[in-house]
Amino acid sequence: MSNFDYDLFVIGGGSGGVRAGRLAAGLGKRVAIAEEYRFGGTCVIRGCVPKKLFVYASQFPEHFEDAAGYGWTVPKPSFDWPTLVKNKDQEIARLEGLYRKGLENAGADIFEARARLIDPHTLDVGGKRVTADKILIAVGGRPNPHEALPGHEHCIFSNEAFDLPELPSAIVIEGGGYIAVEFANIFHGLGVDTTLVYRGKEILSRFDQDLRRELHATMEAKGIKILCHDILTSVEKQADGKLAAHLKSGKVIEAGQVMLAIGRIPNTQDLGLEAAGVETGKTGEILVDGFSRTNVENIWALGDVTNRVQLTPVAIHEAMCFVETVFKGNPTEVDHDTIATAVFSQPEIGTVGLSEDEAALRFDKLEVYRASFRPMRHTLSGRQEKMLMKLVVDGQTRRVLGAHVLGPDAGEMAQLLGISLKARLTKDDFDRTMAVHPSAAEELVTMYQPSYRIEKGERVG
Ligand code: NDP
Repeated sequence: MSNFDYDLFVIGGGSGGVRAGRLAAGLGKRVAIAEEYRFGGTCVIRGCVPKKLFVYASQFPEHFEDAAGYGWTVPKPSFDWPTLVKNKDQEIARLEGLYRKGLENAGADIFEARARLIDPHTLDVGGKRVTADKILIAVGGRPNPHEALPGHEHCIFSNEAFDLPELPSAIVIEGGGYIAVEFANIFHGLGVDTTLVYRGKEILSRFDQDLRRELHATMEAKGIKILCHDILTSVEKQADGKLAAHLKSGKVIEAGQVMLAIGRIPNTQDLGLEAAGVETGKTGEILVDGFSRTNVENIWALGDVTNRVQLTPVAIHEAMCFVETVFKGNPTEVDHDTIATAVFSQPEIGTVGLSEDEAALRFDKLEVYRASFRPMRHTLSGRQEKMLMKLVVDGQTRRVLGAHVLGPDAGEMAQLLGISLKARLTKDDFDRTMAVHPSAAEELVTMYQPSYRIEKGERVG
């Protein structure tokens, strides 16, 4: 038994911190965890979970419209924002309770306070001194406040978007990543006049071109305004309380809210990192090795605060590797390769592996299999939206390098495609697989002929 109060002290009760704390406590280690706000972190409290609930809410108007083709008459629907917020809050409170209970049942001590490092083994936790043999920092990140933007103080971020007192009649959203695109669809679906302002050529810069273009076109067809090659230069509060968003192009857009979604930054300020000697990088992220260990021997960090891949399942995986390495004597390096991901836009994106452009840079010969079709559910509804599926295949080994889907349930498909790509399956394995019929996903195993080939970066027909 060491002289420290705890074997492990976890700072931060989000997805990564809670998983690590719970597992370590379950192994009989003396564990404490500090959380200054609410257990569950960004994902549960003001991220993935409430976002997905809002996505569902925002899809109903289209479901009501689509019902007519199937014979239903739906009376004119109406929407009540406070009901959605209240029900969302109840669900979040339930999940938060489960997180807390999991920790308690495993035997971890809970501190509802901010923790700061005083030295590598000592923390100030809400005014109390606590010592620990090992310390894990999992304090996550927060929206980039974009302080360089005049009028940024009038803007909201994803955090506030979940609890607006009322829905604005119009919103301007800056950014072209996950959050901007998902919220543009949510607000539009809930009836808000929505404009997306993105600095680059096409939204979702890190995704496959085909999906980006098709999603852009579909969002515009729904009525979302997308302004590429533009940025906000200032946001001004007018006498009537409305905001005026000034753009570099000279446009001025009036809106009830302006939301900034231009990335998230690590929460490393005022944590006592300097006192403990923990090194940080250019954006304030904690620098770690492949096992999530910092430069200080007994201090680890994982999740968004390390700014490796800002995704909940990644933080959870990092936490499990940490526990294997540190408490189970089984050194396990974090594996960030081939991560399946979804953008809950409308239609949804599900994707894993390399985009066509990324693959073309790394492989001499590629085969691209591509299908664009109207999904069956849209035949009777009359909705014109297309579904897009694409496999990027190494022409030499036949390994499937990238699988990309745009359309209903694409996120669910990405999870299973993720297994195939992680297992390094080939196109022949896909071809050998029997289709599930009738489904949209069957297209993934029935694209027998390449749509085109790419050799040394050039499309060859
Ligand atoms: P992203 O990194 O996805 O996107 C940031 C966007 O902001 C990009 O379009 C970027 O442009 C743009 N941008 C960056 N700096 C500026 C600037 N100074 N002025 C104007 N535009 C700028 O971040 P998000 O905030 O959307 O999300 C944060 C992270 O959260 C994501 O990376 C993701 O990992 C995670 N997340 C995951 C979700 C999911 O799994 N479904 C959902 C929501 C978030 P450019 O492309 O040109 O760099």
